[in-house]
This record gives sequence, C-alpha cells and structure tokens, in this order.
Amino acid sequence: MSQPINITKVANSKILEVDFDNIPFGKVFSDHMFVADYIDGHWIDPRIVPFGPFLIHPANLALHYGQSIFEGMKASKQLDGTPVFVRPLMHLERLNHSAVRMCMPEVPEDLFMNALNKLVNLDQDWIPTKEGSALYIRPFMFATGEFIGVQASNTYRLVIFTGPVGPYYNKPVRLLTEEHYVRAAVGGVGEAKTSGNYAASLLPAKIARDKGFDQVLWLDAVDFKYIQEVGTMNIFFVIGDKIITPATDGAILKGITRDSIIELLKENGYQVEERRISIDEVVEAYNNGTLKEAFGTGTAAWIAHVSEIQYKDKLMTLPPVEDRLIGPLAYNLLRNLRLGVTPDPFGWVVPVKTELVEA
Ligand SMILES: *Cc1c(COP(=O)(O)O)cnc(C)c1O
Repeated sequence: MSQPINITKVANSKILEVDFDNIPFGKVFSDHMFVADYIDGHWIDPRIVPFGPFLIHPANLALHYGQSIFEGMKASKQLDGTPVFVRPLMHLERLNHSAVRMCMPEVPEDLFMNALNKLVNLDQDWIPTKEGSALYIRPFMFATGEFIGVQASNTYRLVIFTGPVGPYYNKPVRLLTEEHYVRAAVGGVGEAKTSGNYAASLLPAKIARDKGFDQVLWLDAVDFKYIQEVGTMNIFFVIGDKIITPATDGAILKGITRDSIIELLKENGYQVEERRISIDEVVEAYNNGTLKEAFGTGTAAWIAHVSEIQYKDKLMTLPPVEDRLIGPLAYNLLRNLRLGVTPDPFGWVVPVKTELVEA
C-alpha cells in the first residue's frame, strides 16, 4: 500500500515565462518537486511542494563525504498526446543499485512510481511537444545527517524535480582518448550514478575541451587499453559488419539507453557484441578502413554520433553521418518507440497515470 502524497500547489505557475521554442538545457525547472525523508528506517512524509531551495546544515554528511546519488530520465508526449515514461522501473533499479553501493537506503517501487506519476501528472503542461524535446526528470537522494566524521548517515532525503528540455542538437562529437586520468576501476564506484564520479571527471573534461574536443573517451584503469565509455554516455563502434560495445565489467555505468539500443537492434536482426574492446582494435580497424561508425548513447542525447577520435598522436576521422547506417537506425528505432509510431513489444513505454490529482 502506497502512502498518500501530500500536495501543496504553487500559487502562481511560472509556465508562461518559458519560451518553449527555445529552452536552454538544464536551466528551466517545472513548478513542483517531490520530497520524502528517510528517518528511523522508514520513508516518511512524501510530499509534492513548490520547486525551491532547501536549508542545509554545515555538517551535512553528503556535502563532506559524498553520499549522494541521482538518476536522469525523461517523460515525453506520444504523437497522440499521451504522456509516457520509458523504462521507469529500470531507472529505479539503477537508483537502488547506486544506493546499495553508497550505503544508502533503497526506494520502494510504489513510493517511486506514485511520486513520478503524481508529479508529472501535476506538471504535465511542462512536457514540451516539439519533436525531440522532453521533460527531463531528475530523481536524487542525499544524506541529511549532521556529523563530522566519516560514517553513513542515518537520515536521507529523496527528491524528484523536472524541467523541460528542447531537442538535443545532434552535432557529432570529437573525443579525446584519456591516457593519464581514469574514470573508474573495477571494485570502485563506476557503476553507481554518484556525484563524486562526475566531480572527478571535470578536470580531464576541461583539459580535453581546451584542446578542442567535446568529451573524454575513458580507458580501463589497469592497462589503459580497454575502452570504457564517454562522459555521460556509453559507446558503440561499427567495425566491418559488427556492432561492438564494451561489456559492463563493474567499472562502466550500465546505461539504460545502451541496453535499449542493444535490444532494439537485436529485434531488428542485428547482433551486438558486448565484449572487451581495446583502443588498439579501433586504431587497427581505422587503419584498414573497416571502422565505419562510433556513437554514444545516453538519456540526454539518445544517440550522439562521433566524428573524430584522437588517440596519442593519431586523429581518426570517421565517415560523415549521412553515410552511416547503424547510428541513425538506432536513433529512429528509439524515437518511433517513444512516439508510439511503432508498437512496443518490450513493455518499456509506460503511460503517465493521469487520474485527477487530489487537491
Ligand atoms: C547516466 C550515464 C550514462 C548513460 O545512461 P542512460 O541510462 O542511458 O542515460 C552513461 N555513462 C555515465 C557515466 C552516466 O552517468
């Protein structure tokens, strides 16, 4: 039995201030947010309140020792106007996986789904309708304990807020293979969507940008040889007639878009090899002319085509996107599923429950 969610609505919506034809990514927030607190072993006081700041104690454990995890997902409207989530339970599963690794409490399914449905239903006018745009949803959890000393907090806060995002400008990305810094090692926290991973990536990302690249291509922490992923995306290569993506080995974030693309390609008769792939294999394929495509997958962009990869002093330039088959196909398969253009054989597309919100 799910707990009732107490709802306090905003006095005045801010929606009229938003130019839906021109939404800057990550800067526009919808009217409401969901909040629940974990105290004495229970999630209590689930509530939807006007979006706004929290008071934080200076000894807050999340600020000092990093018990903080998040998810990123989207709600969008289908061609007939139905608002839908895609694979919300897989996002919850990953949130809970991150929680366990960071010694934080798990979130029950009924609490999570009830919160998502109520929040997105209440702010459904914030879901943009323009093709490629969506309502970005950011569930996150952080420690609220107040104590100076490294220990797991006894109390936590779960928050979900949302914000409209415009069509992601699919400009192909240039990658710099990182040879000095690592993102994650097996046994570490690379599989968790936890804030410290992203703080750790900022310096190498800045160095790459200063050299004219968009993102870092990460190699494994032991041999500096096997490809892991890119920024906040998983990576795929098309070599000859093979589609290859690194197997998730414990150090790679298990992308839900990655999983969806693998399944969708399989459904359409393509095989995807999930295995170790070294940067040397990619260079060799480039040298013998069989490296046809590379693309990243993630909730923000869905598919980001890779135009160039730098490794040591070698710059590999990939064929133009117009000449590619798999990346554009993967994008369209996911797009058609989301929009309801093609039926969903997987049960991934979940309509937002739009029953009337109690006052
Ligand atoms: C979130 C994320 C991804 C992509 O995951 P999706 O579920 O597809 O959005 C890939 N790598 C990292 C490091 C991430 O944080």
